[in-house]
Amino acid sequence: MAEPGGKIRCDACPVMCYIAEGRVGACDRYANHAGDLVRLDPLTVMETAPDRVVPFLDPEGWDGDIVQGHRPFVTAIGAGTTYPDYKPAPFIVSQQIDGVDMVTVVTEGIFSYCGVKVKIDTDRHIGAERDPVRVDGETIGHVTTTEYGSRMLSLGGVDHLTGGSKREGRTTCDALLALCNREAVTLRIGDSGPEIEVQAGQPPMIDGVRERLMRVGCGSASIGMFAPQWHGHTDEVVVVDDHITGVLSEHQAGKLLGIPPTGIRIKGRRSTPGRYFQVAGPGTGWGGTDISDPLSILGPFNPRVAWAGLRMLMVSTTGEQSAYFVLDNDLIPVPATMPEALRASADRIAENCEPSVCSVLFMGGAGGSLRAGVTENPVGLTRSVKSALTSVTCGGADSYIWPGGGITLMVDVMDMPAGAFGYVPTPALVAPIEFTMRADDYASLGGYTDRIRPVHEVLNSTVRRIDAGGARPLNPARFAWGRKP
Ligand code: SF4
Repeated sequence: MAEPGGKIRCDACPVMCYIAEGRVGACDRYANHAGDLVRLDPLTVMETAPDRVVPFLDPEGWDGDIVQGHRPFVTAIGAGTTYPDYKPAPFIVSQQIDGVDMVTVVTEGIFSYCGVKVKIDTDRHIGAERDPVRVDGETIGHVTTTEYGSRMLSLGGVDHLTGGSKREGRTTCDALLALCNREAVTLRIGDSGPEIEVQAGQPPMIDGVRERLMRVGCGSASIGMFAPQWHGHTDEVVVVDDHITGVLSEHQAGKLLGIPPTGIRIKGRRSTPGRYFQVAGPGTGWGGTDISDPLSILGPFNPRVAWAGLRMLMVSTTGEQSAYFVLDNDLIPVPATMPEALRASADRIAENCEPSVCSVLFMGGAGGSLRAGVTENPVGLTRSVKSALTSVTCGGADSYIWPGGGITLMVDVMDMPAGAFGYVPTPALVAPIEFTMRADDYASLGGYTDRIRPVHEVLNSTVRRIDAGGARPLNPARFAWGRKP
């Protein structure tokens, strides 16, 4: 829309920027190019080989094309946005897949209801549940429930994007955008918690220390896994863990191996035999506790059971810390040189730990007004997704759709092409989203069938073509009708 002074008005989002000739809009996605409103990033098309495998020596099934051609999949990256929502999506393209007429509706969705779930593989205590997570002093989310070997953060969401101050909203949006585009973001937990550098696909940096390993399991699980390897080389093993510290002689794994009681006493709360909670405070020391001296979690040995010369291995859940002791005549543990077999077992624990990495999952609600760009009857799209007649992808990547109402999706940003996300200063994230379904299903849910274009019309010289890698957004097996019984 041209305005006085050579400016044009962008109507791709509620901000409605006036953009002067040669300038870009507030989101850096649109520009005024000689009076035309142009989307600056090229439309991105994935090229995927078909999923059909031609049987060996089956000339009937071979059409002479060795690579079986390439299916172009038009992603929403660079597609642009339509606003208000009732306008049809920017691209609605059709092609035949294995004789079935398919339609993909493509748009860059504007997500006010969105955030990221961050999984940080580390034993180290980074904060308590519900501790605030801050960037530049602004709260952008919180620490949530710890998972097995990983600390979890919930960042963003509508309350931080729109429910706080303007600065909080912008800071949240900037952090989400960077994380979704696989860039590093430095977070501060609480008022005095650690500083953590998080980047999708990379190990976390916690207070300047790059994390290396994700623990092999809790202390009890470690006992269960490695007990036979310790048998005969030591009398006692303690696997120190902030959650469940394991004690070999008391644990069922030790009992079955015939390991006798040692008279060991562990501080903390006994759960079941050989499993102790709260042996120390949480921290960045051994096994995610706050200790650097493992003996600090032991009480005095029971003199009626223990004996001088008793051998004891203490090890953390990543095998990165280990120590070996022998009881003296007063039943005091004295450091001693660790036998080679025990050294090897600690190395084995470390070997079984996977590399520590940060995972970032984008989570957003596409069950709102976005649906109106796909169909005049928005609930029809929701029902179609829930019936597995419509497949939802983000930049060609698989998404997980939550059960229940709406279209609430999660997608691993590492599965998406790099730099797939944008933002608008409302503030909100812009994320690519594609809905793929059979053409007749699209018609029956009230789609904009008069806007369908054959895919070849979209594939001009300006599109960016990328290799789909393992992505198969057009695989018939994604749909209820394409799955084998
Ligand atoms: S913020 Fe971007 S999409 Fe929104 S009106 Fe401005 S240029 Fe257009």
